[in-house]
Amino acid sequence: MIKHSTPAARVVDVAVVGVGTIGSMALWALSTARRRSASTLRVLGIEQYGTVHTHGAFTGESRLFRVAAKEGRHLTPALLEARTRWLELGRLAARDLLIPAGAIHIAPSGHPDLHAALSAAEEFDLPHRHFDADDLRRQYPQFAVDHGDEGFLDELAGVVRPESAVFAASRQAQADGAEVLYNTVVTSLSPTGTGVRIETSAGAVEAGHVIVTAGPWTARLVPGLSRMLTVANFALAWFMPADISAFLPARLPGFMRDFGDMHAFGAPSIDGFSVKVSPHLHLPTVANPARRPMTLSREQLRWLGTQAQRIFPSLDPEPVRWSVHPDSQSPDSRPIIDTIGEGRISIAAGMSGNGFKFAPVWGQALADLALTGASPWQDAEFTLAHHADPVG
Ligand SMILES: Cc1cc2nc3c(=O)[nH]c(=O)nc-3n(C[C@H](O)[C@H](O)[C@H](O)COP(=O)(O)OP(=O)(O)OC[C@H]3O[C@@H](n4cnc5c(N)ncnc54)[C@H](O)[C@@H]3O)c2cc1C
Repeated sequence: MIKHSTPAARVVDVAVVGVGTIGSMALWALSTARRRSASTLRVLGIEQYGTVHTHGAFTGESRLFRVAAKEGRHLTPALLEARTRWLELGRLAARDLLIPAGAIHIAPSGHPDLHAALSAAEEFDLPHRHFDADDLRRQYPQFAVDHGDEGFLDELAGVVRPESAVFAASRQAQADGAEVLYNTVVTSLSPTGTGVRIETSAGAVEAGHVIVTAGPWTARLVPGLSRMLTVANFALAWFMPADISAFLPARLPGFMRDFGDMHAFGAPSIDGFSVKVSPHLHLPTVANPARRPMTLSREQLRWLGTQAQRIFPSLDPEPVRWSVHPDSQSPDSRPIIDTIGEGRISIAAGMSGNGFKFAPVWGQALADLALTGASPWQDAEFTLAHHADPVG
């Protein structure tokens, strides 16, 4: 009789589960630490799809990058550090990952987010401009500006190219010694006392430490987090302007536009013919990313076009393309960056529509947690204790 023995598990020091936005940056940070210390740290990424795919939170051509943090001034140093790392990764990959177009926020006077960013810029002495409605009309004639609007331009901001960024970080990590298993699904994680056993569709892995960066799939892999995480869906849409030259990065920054009854964000034209304008469309949250709505109705597309034209009157209101993407959402939109499993499993989740700009720094925070158990980038607001009791 032939005896079938269970194949031995592969053994690594740190495994990163989910090599999307934050996971690719964690792999890059770990492999950089490996190279700098000339260590033999065994680092393995495990990704259920390919290097760049359309299922996760990171696709859609561009992500707004800001430095003056409207989410809280204390997050500005993380964004300054992220900027340095975006530029470094772009240099290493010989790709323009961060398009330095700046980012403008236009809103009715006194908007709290605009003023939070303005005070962050003042506190950290960041280059910026503050416009009244007349200045805005002169400087940015593409926008419809209402009497009483004001604008804040974050000059160190810009637009990140997300597909290229994930590709670049993954490849850089591999060049520095990390391995990645693509098209491999992680099905369970079990602490063993000395590490974590990872079951995958391609066999078992034993890791000293596991970093979980599974984005919208996190609660499915770590069910204990399901009461803190939902899957939010965001729609992106692109429109054709009458004169494309006014919508190229040399003349149009990344932007946020508030009207009191509507928030929108977007980016200058990257494809050279259309501009991304994404008015916030309320889409249902879901527990399972696979069950998210993938199509928009004629009525939703018409609403997006009407709102886009409200921002830029010269746009044709018919979207030339559009897409829907999931992100993991926490109740107060603060990310979760913390450890469980006696410190052997680090988690980053709940990026809440805001995680891309921070990604290289959150990747570093996870690498720090895996290698030393603590990180200067981990904030008390990111802990599981905060999310379990946000006002406590
Ligand atoms: C439409 C949209 C617009 C946005 N705009 C901005 C913006 O302008 N600026 C900004 O800063 N942020 C923005 N965000 C937010 C930002 O893009 C996300 O917060 C960020 O991409 C989340 O990264 P993540 O690593 O958590 O998830 P992902 O990038 O989705 O990575 C998760 C990865 O884990 C893999 N995975 C999951 N489960 C498993 C498993 N069991 N086994 C193996 N692999 C697995 C997935 O396949 C995926 O590759 C936006 C988000 C969306 C959706």
